[in-house]
Amino acid sequence: MTASNGPTEPTFQPVERTSGLAFERLPGQAIDFPIDTHMHTAFSHDSHVLLELYAAQAAEYGIREIAITDHIDFLPGAPAYRYFDYAVRRKVIGDAAERWAGKVRIRHGIEITYESRFEDEIREYLESHSFDYSIGSVHAVKEGPYHRERVESFARGKTVAEAVAPYFAEVEKAIRSGLFDTLGHLDQVKRWLRPWFPTPVFATIPEAYERLLRALVETGTALEVNSSGLRYPERETYPAGWVVARFRELGGERVTVGSDAHLPQSFAFGLEEAAEIVAAAGFDRLCLERSIERGDLRLPERFLRR
Ligand SMILES: [Zn+2]
Ligand SMILES: [Zn+2]
Repeated sequence: MTASNGPTEPTFQPVERTSGLAFERLPGQAIDFPIDTHMHTAFSHDSHVLLELYAAQAAEYGIREIAITDHIDFLPGAPAYRYFDYAVRRKVIGDAAERWAGKVRIRHGIEITYESRFEDEIREYLESHSFDYSIGSVHAVKEGPYHRERVESFARGKTVAEAVAPYFAEVEKAIRSGLFDTLGHLDQVKRWLRPWFPTPVFATIPEAYERLLRALVETGTALEVNSSGLRYPERETYPAGWVVARFRELGGERVTVGSDAHLPQSFAFGLEEAAEIVAAAGFDRLCLERSIERGDLRLPERFLRR
């Protein structure tokens, strides 16, 4: 989800239920699944969801672990710049983790908006604040070419390779920084460029992806298959299946899936499809923390029997 273009997810229908959950599970929301690694709560500027609701959904759907990954920006004045108090948030997540222990494992994560000009600040922040899990993501930041005020004039007249170049250059620097467990939504730029470049066009520039995938392999950074694109008209994960397959061919070993929910009806949405992509690429498990091998994040058998 973009840190500056705000959530534009589908509208939802609250329903009355005797179970106490305020939202009916939608068909695309996964059940019986090891983990959703990416979601935003009211500690993010663009979400109002209370952690408690995601936890209740996870317990009801059979999602055994969730990583809470609120936004943090480093550009002074950006929406997620100093938006939450670290100690308060850590306590809220820690208390919830205790309350839900034995039912849902709740992890203290973060999604950092990566901008190369703030790499020193990001490094210093990560060295002085502890998290279970960190995602580094490139967003449509205020002064960048993909911001809604600028993207049209930027994209017009360019080839797709030219149009993605600034985004992919920042993504490569984020990966090479070695700061993050996972690189978030590798090609979310598809969403902002869609009016000028239909999503299938991105499959015509594999060489642009190749550099990113090699950087992931070389740094041991995990690739996130972010299912939020399945909720948008592009109807495609970030990145698409062919990119995940190529990552595996290049020797990629660490992959994970996240819904990037900002709303309850987006929680765990699309994870089934994302896991099918992961399994088809030849992976049999997901991961979370860098350098921790998690046998319990093995994909359920239904994905592996094919
Ligand atoms: Zn994001
Ligand atoms: Zn996100």
